Amino acid sequence: MVIPCWKVGDGHSTLFWLDNWLGECPLARYFSRLYALAENKLITVSEMFSLRWGVGGEAWKWRRRLLAWEEELVVECVDCLSSVLLQEGVIDGLPTKDNLYKRGAIDTPQLSCATLCGKAEDRDHVFFQCEVYGRLWLLISK
Ligand SMILES: [Zn+2]
Repeated sequence: MVIPCWKVGDGHSTLFWLDNWLGECPLARYFSRLYALAENKLITVSEMFSLRWGVGGEAWKWRRRLLAWEEELVVECVDCLSSVLLQEGVIDGLPTKDNLYKRGAIDTPQLSCATLCGKAEDRDHVFFQCEVYGRLWLLISK
């Protein structure tokens, strides 16, 4: 899985709509219609990311209900965002289920560990808590 990244540090001091952090111009200009409808025009990249900016994510808050063609703009915008990796996410940028969920790549029912151990899959689970992966790491380290 190759994830090209635009580095904006952890995104805490980058304004999602107004700073020129993704592509050639600010998202407010590229997606001017969405910007006009956005409830919080000063939201940061990291706030948007942590609220989940996938399709249907909490990050998208609008002043009114979107029309069908505006919804398509959101999908287009989400597409641009799908390759963004925030710097604090570098260590935790592994394609674990919780990270894929944050990026909007998978839905809630798919959050459980790939080994079918029944627990939710995140970095700590994969490296330190999962019994199945634990045995695998032992085998690999020998
Ligand atoms: Zn597991």
